[in-house]
Amino acid sequence: MKVAVVSDVHANWHALEAVLADIDAQTPDEIWCLGDLVGYGPEPNRCTTEIAERAQICLAGNHDLGVLGRLELSEFSPDAAAVAHWTQGVLEDEPRAFLSSLEPMGARGGADLFHGSPHDPVWEYVLSEGSARRAFEETSSDIILVGHSHVPIALRLEDGTVAGGLAKGGSELELNSGRWLINPGAVGQPRDGDARAAYLLLDLEARHAHFRRVPYDIEATQAEIRAEGLPEDLARRLAGGE
Ligand code: ZN
Repeated sequence: MKVAVVSDVHANWHALEAVLADIDAQTPDEIWCLGDLVGYGPEPNRCTTEIAERAQICLAGNHDLGVLGRLELSEFSPDAAAVAHWTQGVLEDEPRAFLSSLEPMGARGGADLFHGSPHDPVWEYVLSEGSARRAFEETSSDIILVGHSHVPIALRLEDGTVAGGLAKGGSELELNSGRWLINPGAVGQPRDGDARAAYLLLDLEARHAHFRRVPYDIEATQAEIRAEGLPEDLARRLAGGE
């Protein structure tokens, strides 16, 4: 099975539209989403509706849970909380019902999926060797997929050693030996210095991973953020992939 793994769409329609066009050209069998459909961005209804129609599995992220009232917004940064409040006001019934049906962890195709990490599926960022090691310890599958940090990474556990790190756009990996923890990066708000939308193509039989980056109309999303009166910093940071 060939899978396109997307995460952290964050209501950025122009990024999602470009990624879905690239996915369609790659003809995967399924689309998996690791959560945070909403928050930060100006198009929560459109993005949620599209993923609801297209993805075979979708997790809930901390922003989705915050908008639904299942997490306290006092735990969010001021900008994130401001957009979560705004999203609560504009979110339509059908996208809200879809988000309400999601959980922050799941499993499919022999892989374990978490928005954050196995230890804390909602909040933990897996960015250090320590957090990666704990993620391997608390799971048993060979492929663990996480989102949340907005940074594409590929880490391998083999013979007790964790190796790997940042996965640059366009990089390809053979997953033949060891166990792997992979973050596809963010569709809607990349934070690795590359402003292009990120996603992962995963061939579960061939054990092959391909980190894709897709250019999109950043200025169009920035204009929508400003038009809705959302925090300016959320528009600014998209240009640098911060
Ligand atoms: Zn996120």
